[in-house]
Amino acid sequence: MSIVSEYFGCLTFNDGTMKERLPRDTYQSLKKTIDEGRGLDPEIASVVANAMKDWAIEKGCTHYTHWFQPLSGVTAEKHESFISPVGDGKVIMEFSGKELVRGEPDASSFPSGGLRATFEARGYTAWDPTSYAFIKDRTLCIPTAFCSYGGEALDKKTPLLRSMAAINTQAMRILRLFDPTTKVACVRTSVGAEQEYFLVPKHLYNQRRDLIFTGRTLFGAKPPKGQELDDHYFGTIKPAVDSFMKELDEELWKLGILAKTEHNETAPAQHELAPIFTQANIATDHNQLIMEMMQKIAKRHDLVCLLHEKPFEGVNGSGKHNNWSIATSDGTNLLTPGETPAQNARFLLFLCAVIKAVDEYQDLLRISAATAGNDHRLGAAEAPPAVISIFLGDELTSILDALEAHQQVDSKKADQLQLGVDVLPKFPKDNTDRNRTSPFAFTGNKFEFRMVGSSNSVADCNVALNTAVAESLRVFADRLEAADDFTYMLNHLIRKTVREHRRVIFNGNGYDEDWIRRATEERGLLNLPSVPDALPRMLDEKNVSLFTRHKVYTEAEIRSRVEVALGNYVKTTRIEANTMIDMVWREILPAVEAYGKDMADTALSKLALPAGTVSADVELKLAARLSSLASRIAGCAEELANTLGEIGKGDLETQSRAVRDRLIPAMEELRRAADEAETVTAEKYWPFPTYAALLFGVE
Ligand code: ADP
Ligand code: MG
Repeated sequence: MSIVSEYFGCLTFNDGTMKERLPRDTYQSLKKTIDEGRGLDPEIASVVANAMKDWAIEKGCTHYTHWFQPLSGVTAEKHESFISPVGDGKVIMEFSGKELVRGEPDASSFPSGGLRATFEARGYTAWDPTSYAFIKDRTLCIPTAFCSYGGEALDKKTPLLRSMAAINTQAMRILRLFDPTTKVACVRTSVGAEQEYFLVPKHLYNQRRDLIFTGRTLFGAKPPKGQELDDHYFGTIKPAVDSFMKELDEELWKLGILAKTEHNETAPAQHELAPIFTQANIATDHNQLIMEMMQKIAKRHDLVCLLHEKPFEGVNGSGKHNNWSIATSDGTNLLTPGETPAQNARFLLFLCAVIKAVDEYQDLLRISAATAGNDHRLGAAEAPPAVISIFLGDELTSILDALEAHQQVDSKKADQLQLGVDVLPKFPKDNTDRNRTSPFAFTGNKFEFRMVGSSNSVADCNVALNTAVAESLRVFADRLEAADDFTYMLNHLIRKTVREHRRVIFNGNGYDEDWIRRATEERGLLNLPSVPDALPRMLDEKNVSLFTRHKVYTEAEIRSRVEVALGNYVKTTRIEANTMIDMVWREILPAVEAYGKDMADTALSKLALPAGTVSADVELKLAARLSSLASRIAGCAEELANTLGEIGKGDLETQSRAVRDRLIPAMEELRRAADEAETVTAEKYWPFPTYAALLFGVE
C-alpha cells in the first residue's frame, strides 16, 4: 500500500471498475442514470448485480448488505450471505438484480415517528445507484434509501434525493431561461463537510461512565490550562494522533473518499478532517463513513474518537461545516461569479435565490442543526449563535446595495443596469478576511453552513437548503417565464430580493452579544436557542407547504421527523440525568466522603497531641467544606431524581419543554456542586480521570 493513486477507490465499485466489468451498453445505461439522474433501466440490474458480486467475491467478500440511514442518524446494515444451496449439500454464490435493487430488512425497531405501526413494521430498502457500492469488513455495501411499503421515507437519504431533484427541476428552468439551447443535463448540489472531533486515550475513556453512556463529560472542573494559548490550533500533531490520521486517510482513500486535510483544531485534543467536495448525497454517505471509520480506527490506536458536539465544558465543542454550492452536470459552479455580464447576472440571481431562501426559511436551517448535543454549542461564543444570518463580505454586499439603489428602470435602458452587473469583481479566494463567526458565510464560490453539529448527518441541512433554494428559484422562474422583458424582470427580481431580505445579511461579529439583540429586536430575525424552541416550527404552515409542494416530505413525514427529534432530545437528556445520578451516588459522593473522613481523622489525631504542638485548622476547614459540599451534592442529586420523575407527563412537546426548563437547570446545579468538590478533593481520591488527563493525555 504505497502509491495512493493505485489504491484509491480500490474498495468501491467505481466508474473504472464498472467500465471494466460491465458489458458496454449496460455500462452506458448505468452511467446515464448516475451522471444525468435518468431513471434506472430495470433490465440492467441483474447484469450489474452479477458483476458486483464477482468483484466483491474476488476481494474476499462473503456477504452483502443494503446500507441505509434511518432516522436515528447513524447508518444501519443487515448482512446477507451470497450463498445459495444447489442440492447435494453444495452452495453457489449468488446475487440477483432483485436483491441489488430492493431489500427487506426486518427493521421494525428503527424510529419511525409514528409512520409505521408494528404490524406493518417492515420497510424496504432501494438502491441509490448514484452512490458507489463499497466493501467494508468483507461485506459488499450497497447504499440504499429506506422506505415504508406506503412509500413514506423512513430515512435521511430519500428526502435528500428528493430535495436534489427539486432543486434540479427549478434550476434547470432558470438555466433554460438564460440559454434555451443549453446542453446542461442536470444541476446538482455539491457538498464538502468538514468534520471536527476529539481524540482521548482509551484507558481514560473507559473509566468515565458519562463518556461511555452519553458521549460527553457530565462532570469535570476546568483544568489549569485550557485552550487559552491557542497553541493547539494547527500545532504539531502528536505521534499517536499522526499514526491514527495516516491510517484513517488510507482507509478512506480505499473507499474512494477524498480525505484532503487533517489538522489540529482550537481545543486541546481536537482535530478536523476535510474531504474534497462531491455531490450532496455522496458527500452525505461519505460523511457517515468518515464518522464510522474515525471511531473504528481510533480504537486500534488506543484512542477513542468523540463526535459529541460538546464533550467538555469550557472548551470549544465540535461542529461540521457544510460547504454547499450548485453545479451543472458539465461542471460549472453556479455560485462562481462569471466572466461575462450574462454569467454575472446568472450568478447574482442564484445568489439572490440563496439569500431569499435563508431568510424565509431560517427556522428550517436552524431545525436541521437542532439536537440536544448541539444546544450546548450554539451561541457559546465558539460556534455561530442560534440566529441565522448570511455573511457576504463588504464587496459583494456593496454591489448588491448599489444594484438595489437603482430606482425603477425603464426597460429600454436595461443595459444600463447590466453595467452594474458587469463590473462584478473576482472575489479573492483568500482566507484571511473571512468571517468565521457567521452561521452561513459566502466563501468565494460556495456557502458554508457552520451550525451543524459534529455528530449530525449532513442530510438534514442539505434537505432544508436544497428545498428552500428550489422554492426561491421556482418563484423566480415563474416570474421570468411570464415576463415580456427578461432583462428587466431579472433586474427587478434581484433588486426586490435585496430590498426584502437585506435583514439577513450581516457582515459583523456573530459572537457579539449585542448582535443577538439587534438581530431579533431590530431585524426581526429568529433566535431559537434550543430544540424545543426550534423543532415544533417545522410544522408551521409555510414549512409544510414548502416541503409538500416540492415533494420532499409529506405532512406525515414531517410529523414523524419532529416526533423523532423531540423524542431524541428528551431521551438523550434523561439518559444524561440518570448517568449523573449514578455517578454521584456511586463514585463522587463516596470519594468526597472518604477524603472528608481522612481529613477529620487527621484532625482528630492532631488534636490528641499536646496542646499547641500542631494545628488542625486546614483539616478541620477542609472537612467542614467537604461535608457541606457532600450535602449540597446529595441534595441536588435528590432534586434531579425528583425532577426526572415529574417531567415524563404530557406529549413530547410538553416533555421537551420540561427538559429544557427544569431538567437541564437541575443537572447544571448538580454539576456545579460536584465540580467544586473536585477542585478541593485530593486527586488520588477522585474516582475518574480529570479534564487535564483527558485533554492532554494523548502522547
Ligand atoms: P476553508 O477555509 O473553510 O477550510 P476550503 O477551501 O479548504 O475552505 O474548503 C473547505 C471545504 O469546502 C472542503 O471540504 C472543500 O472541498 C469544500 N468546497 C470547496 N469548494 C466547494 C464547492 N464549490 N462546493 C462545495 N464545497 C466546496
Ligand atoms: Mg470551514
